[in-house]
Amino acid sequence: MMRSKGISDESVLNAMNQVPRHLFLDSSFLEHAYQNKAFPIGADQTISHPYTVAFQSQLLQLKPGHKVLEIGTGSGYQCAVLLEMKAQVYTIERQNELYKKTSLLFGKLNYRPKKYVFGDGYQGLPEEAPFDSIIVTCGAPEIPQTLLSQVKIGGRLVIPVGSDSQIMTLIIRESATDFSKETFGEFRFVPFLGGKI
Ligand code: SAH
Repeated sequence: MMRSKGISDESVLNAMNQVPRHLFLDSSFLEHAYQNKAFPIGADQTISHPYTVAFQSQLLQLKPGHKVLEIGTGSGYQCAVLLEMKAQVYTIERQNELYKKTSLLFGKLNYRPKKYVFGDGYQGLPEEAPFDSIIVTCGAPEIPQTLLSQVKIGGRLVIPVGSDSQIMTLIIRESATDFSKETFGEFRFVPFLGGKI
């Protein structure tokens, strides 16, 4: 199915075959995932659809050892896929309940991000920057300048941009000051919200 939908990167397909996705889905995760009542979101959107995970992972063009920052750890599934791709993953989650729960799951499944931070993804992780790539797994109303500044020259930012629905957007940092942009299809993510709770 992934192949027929244009996912051809073997390292993505292999990694996704390694991660037991069902272990990242459980009822208590669903309860905690979307506490922001201002944005009623269907429970099926709590963990990104496998195709979305594959699509974003492929856009990163990861090489083993790449330093990747993920915004929105959520269930930890996307992070686990990046770890299976042998990336060094730094990941940030703003909801403390979810942060703690996923922390336990990482321990149980032996997935080890380089750093797992409870914080606000709008800040990025300046002390660890620059990154080979940054992946945002929540819908951003606009592209945060802070995140652009934390991408290496030649590096990538993959971010769904939009409010109600999002256009998958790939930004490549061509030089210190120049960025190129390419857009892909429409997706639906929970919102990229400021602050931590
Ligand atoms: N990558 C996740 C996707 C979870 S949904 C997975 O594989 O399951 C998106 C997540 O982004 C939610 O957990 C939400 O709490 C989180 N999020 C939203 N705004 C954020 C912010 N400013 N900083 C960090 N995480 C954020």
